[in-house]
Amino acid sequence: MGYSSDDERQIGEAFARLMSSCAKVCKNDYDRDLIERAFFLAKEAHEGVHRRSGEPYILHPLAVARIVVDEIGLGVKSVVAALLHDVVEDTDYTVEDIESRFGPKIALMVDGLTKMSGVFKTDASEQAENFRKVLLTLSDDVRVILVKIADRLHNMRTLGSMPPHKQMKITSETIYLFAPLAYRLGLYAIKSELEDLTLKYRFPEDYKQIEAKIRETEAGRTRFIEKFNAPIIEKLRENGIDFEISGRVKSVYSIWSKMQRKHVSFDEIYDIFAIRIVFKPSPLIPEKSQCWHIYSLVTDIYKPKPDRIRDWVNIPKANGYEALHSTVMGPDGIWAEVQIRSERMEEIAERGFAAHWKYKTGALSKEEGEFDRWMKQVREALNSPTEDAVEFLDNFKLSLYTSEIVVFTPKGDSRTLPQGATALDFAYDIHSKIGNSAMGAKINHKIESIFAPVGSGDQIEIITSKNVTPKPDWLEHVITTKAKQSIVNFLKKDKLNNIANGIELFEARLKDFGVTPSARVFRKVLPAYECATKDEFYSKLGAGIVKLDDLGKVLRENSANKILKFWTLQIPNPFRFLGGEGKKDRHVLPDDPTDPEAPQFVIAPCCNPIPGDEVVGYKNPETHKVDVHKKSCNELIKLAAQHGNNLTPVAWSSHKAMSYLTVMELRGIDRIGILMELSQVITGELNTNIRELHIQSHDGIFEGRISLYVKNKTDLKMIMEKVGKIKGVEKAIRVENTKE
Ligand code: MN
Repeated sequence: MGYSSDDERQIGEAFARLMSSCAKVCKNDYDRDLIERAFFLAKEAHEGVHRRSGEPYILHPLAVARIVVDEIGLGVKSVVAALLHDVVEDTDYTVEDIESRFGPKIALMVDGLTKMSGVFKTDASEQAENFRKVLLTLSDDVRVILVKIADRLHNMRTLGSMPPHKQMKITSETIYLFAPLAYRLGLYAIKSELEDLTLKYRFPEDYKQIEAKIRETEAGRTRFIEKFNAPIIEKLRENGIDFEISGRVKSVYSIWSKMQRKHVSFDEIYDIFAIRIVFKPSPLIPEKSQCWHIYSLVTDIYKPKPDRIRDWVNIPKANGYEALHSTVMGPDGIWAEVQIRSERMEEIAERGFAAHWKYKTGALSKEEGEFDRWMKQVREALNSPTEDAVEFLDNFKLSLYTSEIVVFTPKGDSRTLPQGATALDFAYDIHSKIGNSAMGAKINHKIESIFAPVGSGDQIEIITSKNVTPKPDWLEHVITTKAKQSIVNFLKKDKLNNIANGIELFEARLKDFGVTPSARVFRKVLPAYECATKDEFYSKLGAGIVKLDDLGKVLRENSANKILKFWTLQIPNPFRFLGGEGKKDRHVLPDDPTDPEAPQFVIAPCCNPIPGDEVVGYKNPETHKVDVHKKSCNELIKLAAQHGNNLTPVAWSSHKAMSYLTVMELRGIDRIGILMELSQVITGELNTNIRELHIQSHDGIFEGRISLYVKNKTDLKMIMEKVGKIKGVEKAIRVENTKE
């Protein structure tokens, strides 16, 4: 117990660094004393405890406190809360102790932080529900979330000392929730770092490669940026503008996701950097006018891409972000993005929320209602309870990333909606009663369906009718959390009725076939009608969404065909979940799922891994089987973020030579004989089995999908390489999702 002299030295240094960072926020001795007392209490409380890395634990709260003051720009109370954030959770101190020493406000923040860490420790399904509860604290004090983000950032920075499946859980939560949340709160730098760190731990190879590429291409880029900037610098100086100009490379993660999304290589991404112009505003001219003035000077030199102007000066993003972005044609015909902003806008972009408040209390700005509006929406969403917390979280998460459009009511009031919203979203945004009875819409005085998408600047009037009620398919035509929840709430009232109807209907139909509802029947029926649970099936049936016209066919079908594949997997750590049979560390799985020795592994159809892919197991509480996902699978990230404790390590066994179904997509220039050559390469030369081949050709271009059986990833890679070499073939990529 106690601290060694080496520990003491490290701790002393870390505390001194914190105090010097805090100099800018401490107004008097009382503030300094408060931070010092918090430090001593935390130090004493965590005494003798070490992190996995071997460091004394207290270095963690010290680091979090420094992020809070240096990188988020919060004040003394938040620093104190950061120092104390793990005290109640991990030691004998109570919230009451904190309150008596530091007052009610700080105690409330520490309480919020304690509950929050509880969320990520609980089992499985409760996590989503708890997270929702915790988000409620957002409406009381956003600083709690900000300190939590700082905590997560430090944990991510020190993730290297965690075991791999813990890393998986933590990175999933980070990419699923914390990065979007940081984005929404305007913390761009932190959001990028969280994403980069996630990538670094999940795909270390990809990360290293991109990092190396950025380094390799640096010299050429610097030359280009200098050449690009020179005439701009001259012109802006001539016009007496006080400014700084820089060229910034985008984050590793944003480059990586673009490569993934567009299936392109690093060299094919042209916008890996942006030019940023930050100006000191002249007090006599509005900032907005100055932004446009600079824009006009820049575009005098370089031609702008007409559809690539982003005006967040007139209409800031909901997270407060303001800037003018434009893409222009630079020297040598290279497109470059130019970002124009004032020093104030720059600070908001870097510091987000905290800077936002700072300017709000200072200068007057009528546009700064955006953030408050978002907060109001979050609060509304949180206060209207929904049973399905996971779904709530999904919607909430979506609301974090979307960009906004502004539309107008018939009276000319503006409303902000996410991009992609429909007239029905607008109706619900006005009031749930209007949404629930919406029959049609007048968009810019023209009659349209309530499902019609709305665009920025549209004026919308909703036509209502007493005879209209929400239908389940409405859910597919709205994107806002508020609309979804209002519809779900309405439908839920009907649901219980529907379930009862559904049971009656189903049993009656089954009688026609002389069958009773058994587990065996549901194993066939649920996937056939795309329902996850019996309740879902019954209520959809009762509501008329599911029709039983082909029930006979479904019942006759051998359900083995429905399930993609079961394979031999090796489990490094056998777990009890396997129904007490975890005595071996390798399980050979039968092909017939109706076999009493039920298969325990399911190859997830969302990402369809094959041997050689990095895989992670997910103990599915509904099926009591282990779903095997690719490590990169988005579905898995979602599951891991919500039920991180259900993850389990799995690995491919190497001894079996079996074939796995995979799908390849092709595109290229059509020419005579190409099809023949293709099938020759695949079946002839490589001796692989094609199951299906669809090729379409139009306007001289062919596109196709090939389903084929391969033994492993190396096999597939070789086929793709060979196919890629065929004359005319431009792209041969593996399709992840083979659900269709
Ligand atoms: Mn912590």
